[in-house]
Amino acid sequence: MTITTTRFAPSPTGSLHVGNIRTALHNWLLAKKHGGRFLLRIDDTDAERSREEYVESIRADLAWLGIEPDGEERQSQRLALYEAVFSALQAAGRVYPCYETAQELDLKRKIQLGRGLPPIYDRAALALSAEERAEKEAQGIAPHWRFKLDHAEPIQWEDGVRGTQKFDPAQLSDPVIRRADGSWLYMLPSVIDDLDMGITDVLRGEDHVSNTAVQIQMFTAAIAAQYSAARTIPNFAHEALLVGSEGKLSKRLGSLGCDAFRERGIEPQALLALLARLGTSQPVEPIAERSELIETFDLSSFGRAPAKFDDADLDRLNAGIVHALDYETISTRLPDGMDEAGWLAIRPNLVRVGEAADWWKLVTGPIETPEFADEDRVFLVEAAKLMSWKEDPWHALADTLKQETGRKGKALFLPLRQALTGMDHGPDMAHLLPLIGEERARARLERAGKAG
Ligand code: GLU
Repeated sequence: MTITTTRFAPSPTGSLHVGNIRTALHNWLLAKKHGGRFLLRIDDTDAERSREEYVESIRADLAWLGIEPDGEERQSQRLALYEAVFSALQAAGRVYPCYETAQELDLKRKIQLGRGLPPIYDRAALALSAEERAEKEAQGIAPHWRFKLDHAEPIQWEDGVRGTQKFDPAQLSDPVIRRADGSWLYMLPSVIDDLDMGITDVLRGEDHVSNTAVQIQMFTAAIAAQYSAARTIPNFAHEALLVGSEGKLSKRLGSLGCDAFRERGIEPQALLALLARLGTSQPVEPIAERSELIETFDLSSFGRAPAKFDDADLDRLNAGIVHALDYETISTRLPDGMDEAGWLAIRPNLVRVGEAADWWKLVTGPIETPEFADEDRVFLVEAAKLMSWKEDPWHALADTLKQETGRKGKALFLPLRQALTGMDHGPDMAHLLPLIGEERARARLERAGKAG
């Protein structure tokens, strides 16, 4: 039986952003749903732009998110394998050297576009004779290499999100796979790794659809040249891209990463809950349990329309996640002295855990006592006198005051809340008052009664 194996393949040329966090998550969910493996593949063939610090930040971000790879691979350590497959493809006539400069290629494209033709590479290098090639090399021009597409048959695959996809290879340029300095472009090493690591499913953004078309031919060619027929081409699925809430591809999203979410007090579970379901027909809910996200992950629920990323959704989910966090999980992040009862009283008022400290000050003080009208001051002095410390002091106080003063509703509750907490709104007073405690509560009521 084949084990579902997926991979997340970032290039370490920057930190993860929300778009590739989403790709990582979906690949992880897909693997876990089928009891399979999820690999982290660092695509670091571009030595100039790749940085070790980004490799580390990618690992750290995945750890923070709880997306743990079952293995890690680095393309820079696999160059010998790429070389071997490249030689086999060369022997099979599927790669060829090209000598055009970037300027020459650019000019060709401009001429084609000027004539109303698609800017497809004209395969001029394929027509060079051995002598012409030798002459170029004698001039010190090192070739770059293209993969030769087979024009005989249409390229076709069943895409997990987009359904049947068809491309005419004659309408595609033979892709450059290797630069003149010998370094690799992403296309061929990715195919070789997917084959070599037994990747069963490639799930990525729809910006890769035309890459998939040419890569499918590379898979077939690499299997024929180097691997046994037991190796198969993975399943492909391309999801619609993530756009900003205004509906456009946004620069902000392209750099919005875990650091920014952490600073904003976003819990990783909230981000996962949002990204797991965004762009699907399933409801976006504050699901904290990873097992639930895994079980309900379903490629067929993904739509073709761009998925809109909205910060307001993220805040809503964060609040939902925070409201359900239990004390044990969160205690180390709470202000000193805040116990379980404190957490449970304050939790419903939070969008972010960090706000707990502000609310906790209402309990520990000092609070700012607002100014009251004369009649409220009289009422609050009365309250200080009548307050008895029973099991449920808040309801006891409210009932007594109702009877004694005839006040009810807002006239009864608001001055009490203001005097006891310095605020017009906040956590349920029935939970808060026992935390404030008798002594502090009485002092606050008395001070409010005197103020003005
Ligand atoms: N390194 C490639 C990228 O980040 C990987 C694409 C893929 O998933 O195949 O675009």
